[in-house]
Amino acid sequence: METSRQPVDRWLFPRPEGLYCAAGGFYIDPSRPVARAVITHGHSDHARRGHGHVLATAETLSIMRIRLGDDHAGATQVMRFGEVLRIGDVDLSFHPAGHVLGSAQICLSHAGRKVVVSGDYKRARDPTCAPFEVQRCDLFVTEATFGLPVFRHEPAASEVNRLLSSLEQRTGRTHLLGVYGLGKCQRMLALVREAGYKAPVYLHGALYNMTEFYQSLGFDFGELRSASEAPENDLAGALVMCPPSALTDRWSRRFGDPVRAAASGWMRVRARARQRGADLPLIVSDHADWPELLQTIGETQAEEIWVTHGREDALLHQIGKMGLNGRALSLVGFEDEAD
Ligand SMILES: [Zn+2]
Ligand SMILES: [Zn+2]
Repeated sequence: METSRQPVDRWLFPRPEGLYCAAGGFYIDPSRPVARAVITHGHSDHARRGHGHVLATAETLSIMRIRLGDDHAGATQVMRFGEVLRIGDVDLSFHPAGHVLGSAQICLSHAGRKVVVSGDYKRARDPTCAPFEVQRCDLFVTEATFGLPVFRHEPAASEVNRLLSSLEQRTGRTHLLGVYGLGKCQRMLALVREAGYKAPVYLHGALYNMTEFYQSLGFDFGELRSASEAPENDLAGALVMCPPSALTDRWSRRFGDPVRAAASGWMRVRARARQRGADLPLIVSDHADWPELLQTIGETQAEEIWVTHGREDALLHQIGKMGLNGRALSLVGFEDEAD
């Protein structure tokens, strides 16, 4: 009913702890410990320890236990995709965000208004998580990690082929691939297998726990071996995955003269690739690029768009050109690097 509609910013607004839903008494992805937190996904800038109560998908809760310890929260509650839960005066539901395993968009209905908080998301195919599902809403709260027209990700399969051709052509040289430990690592493993790469893939120790969690859910990544335990001869010409920071640190020295690759949306920027020490930059991202942001904003049919974190100015300008109302929330505590 029109009469019951009130501006959303009366019941959903930023506080120092993060985005707060006053009608339900909870925060979404708060950057400080709070009594009640709703968590979109397991990346460290969204999922932190110390909350009294955490509501998230089963996968996100498992990821939080692996990364933060069993005692990361006072209590936890599993939310299934599509299920509706009443909290205070809000009807809340989770829908796949396509970002990493377990990642969810949070849908809030209150006082005749429907709001969708995207968390991080992408529209490109990813064999390791459920695909993004468009939710029509009145207000869409979007990330903007890659909110500049220059950011256009390449099709992941063609970037993976560039990696595999390099492995074929530069025989004998170890290929180090820098990947973020949650999501990107497992997506790249799945994609190299889909592309027909059959040899064992070697993993840096820091990538093991999370990858084993995916395997425990039934994901098949072929033969994986520990990079630190492998004889040096086996590593010549092999594919070795490591965290981005390991590409240039002491650990990388044992590989002789390796090819250094990195898979990230930031690899679109030459300076970033150089900074990471990547001579084979692969533009593979778990975030929406510029066209995907605009496509998604259009498909939600929302009249109002709030931007949580990332590059806000260009996106807000574009939102205005689309005839929509835009607002920058400028939430703190979110980092660029998690891709
Ligand atoms: Zn994320
Ligand atoms: Zn994020």
